[in-house]
Amino acid sequence: MSARGLDVPAAPRGPLVVAIDGPSGVGKSTTARGLARRLGIPYLDTGAMYRALALLVLRRGLDPGDREAVEALAASAPLGMRQRDDGQLEVLLDGEPVAGRIRAPEVSEATSRIAVYPRVRARMVALQREIAGREGGVLEGRDIGSQVLPGARFKFFLDAPLAVRVARRRLELAARGGAVDEAELAREIEERDRRDRARADSPLVCTPGHIRIDTGPLDAEGVIARMLAFIRAGGRGAPEGA
Ligand code: C5P
Repeated sequence: MSARGLDVPAAPRGPLVVAIDGPSGVGKSTTARGLARRLGIPYLDTGAMYRALALLVLRRGLDPGDREAVEALAASAPLGMRQRDDGQLEVLLDGEPVAGRIRAPEVSEATSRIAVYPRVRARMVALQREIAGREGGVLEGRDIGSQVLPGARFKFFLDAPLAVRVARRRLELAARGGAVDEAELAREIEERDRRDRARADSPLVCTPGHIRIDTGPLDAEGVIARMLAFIRAGGRGAPEGA
């Protein structure tokens, strides 16, 4: 696939797919969105899919700890996707965009609890593979390079110290008008990361095939530039400072 406006070496087969994984607050969404725009391919925030299901669980009054009920709901949940003009794939619940409702702390908490269930993951992974197989894209999450698309040509793992991630998330939440207790936020992020790394099915992990980038000292443009340099080189050599 030749990506729009960029001299990306021809892929051996299939559309261009970039996997971005990493813990919460590391800057995955901002960099994935920017990278997808530069490459002219769709951007999929896979966390939004798990979040939409968690929102449905809460709306239905189910307990996120009730595995059987949540897995049954996952199998039939009315999840859909729509491509926006900016290339981002937007998650729909019952045909309705839910982006504005899935970032609340109670939804974040419920999301990492339901994301441990194998049948929840199976439904999401099937949808994600279908989307990536159709037209490629930048897919961002926790298990993209390890489980969803292990054969992806480019895989990045973003990381940063907890304090940096908490500070970024605080600014993000404050920009949306929420008052944020930093100590509480640090606890929430640590707990979510612990769950994501410890779960038996598809834990968050930096595999040998991932290029690790420490985003602590970089802004989003700096991270995107490193990824682009790596992609333009056809995946050879690690980006400077990675
Ligand atoms: O990326 P975001 O913070 O929106 O993800 C919310 C939660 O969704 C994560 O904490 C994780 O539990 C789950 N998730 C996942 N696998 C993915 C993406 C997100 O388990 N590929």
